[in-house]
Order: sequence, then C-alpha cells, then structure tokens
Amino acid sequence: MQFSQKQRENLVKKLTEFITEHECAVCHSKEWTIAERIYAMSDYYPHGFVPTGFRVPFVVLSCAKCAHSILFNAIGLGIVDAKTGELTDG
Ligand SMILES: [Zn+2]
Repeated sequence: MQFSQKQRENLVKKLTEFITEHECAVCHSKEWTIAERIYAMSDYYPHGFVPTGFRVPFVVLSCAKCAHSILFNAIGLGIVDAKTGELTDG
C-alpha cells in the first residue's frame, strides 16, 4: 500500500524524531530513505504457502549508501490503524 503525500509528510516528520542522528550499523552513514509503500510480514510457512490473516505492517528505512534496511512497526508509529488496518494520516 502506497502513502499519500500527506501521509508521507507526516511519516517523515515522525521518523525524523527517531533517526536524525541514527547511524547505519553497517557503513555508519546517517542518510536514510523511506520506502514508498508499507510492507507486511507474516509467520513463516513452508513451501511458500501464506494463509490469509493478520500480517504486521512495517515502514522500511534503507541506508542511502549501502542499502542496509531497518523496520518500524507501522501500527506502533500510528501510520496504520490497529483496528481497521487502514492507513491513517499519522
Ligand atoms: Zn549503510
């Protein structure tokens, strides 16, 4: 699911509180990019089978230099409503 312009602005504002001085664990760069979409993670199931059900939504930040990525739970950030699963305005 892709962010609207307003959602993206609010997300950048919120994440800036956390990552302004955050250093990449791999290359020590302090430049990060935010993915344009929210990604979901589910339990692992063998043979590629993924049943329907709850998946944890994540915002992905990637180091602008080496692409090492870190995840933020989108519900915890207030970007996804825990009850409806819909994107909020943050
Ligand atoms: Zn890096």
